[in-house]
Amino acid sequence: MIDIINYDSENIFAKILRNEMPCEKVFENEKVLAFRDINPQAEIHIIVIPKEKFCSFNDFSKIASNETIISLNRSIGEIANTLSLKDGYRIICNVGMHGGQEVPHLHFHILAGQSLGKLIL
Ligand code: AMP
Repeated sequence: MIDIINYDSENIFAKILRNEMPCEKVFENEKVLAFRDINPQAEIHIIVIPKEKFCSFNDFSKIASNETIISLNRSIGEIANTLSLKDGYRIICNVGMHGGQEVPHLHFHILAGQSLGKLIL
């Protein structure tokens, strides 16, 4: 998946972005959508995705504009503030096969609401 350069418009998150599938939205702005993970691995488990089409962090880091990269990072912080994650949280981005990435649309996991231990996902 790390080498995928042709974006698959039929992936689940693409369908959510097109409103073809429902999601439990927690945040949206011009460039970013965030919603609750369907199979939460912590008390709070949010998926954050860019609206632009990137397969993974790998192509995002190469081809995204500076504006998009900054916007996504700022949005993650804004979501954490909006959800009042005062006791902390973890951000995870799985990349490719060895990274355990299942959905080929770049996404960040925000996990919170409990002590998370050393490793998760
Ligand atoms: P990853 O393994 O990093 O690709 O993570 C994919 C995540 O997407 C998993 O945590 C899934 O539980 C989550 N997921 C899959 N389908 C949906 C969906 N329809 N709505 C919300 N989260 C989903």
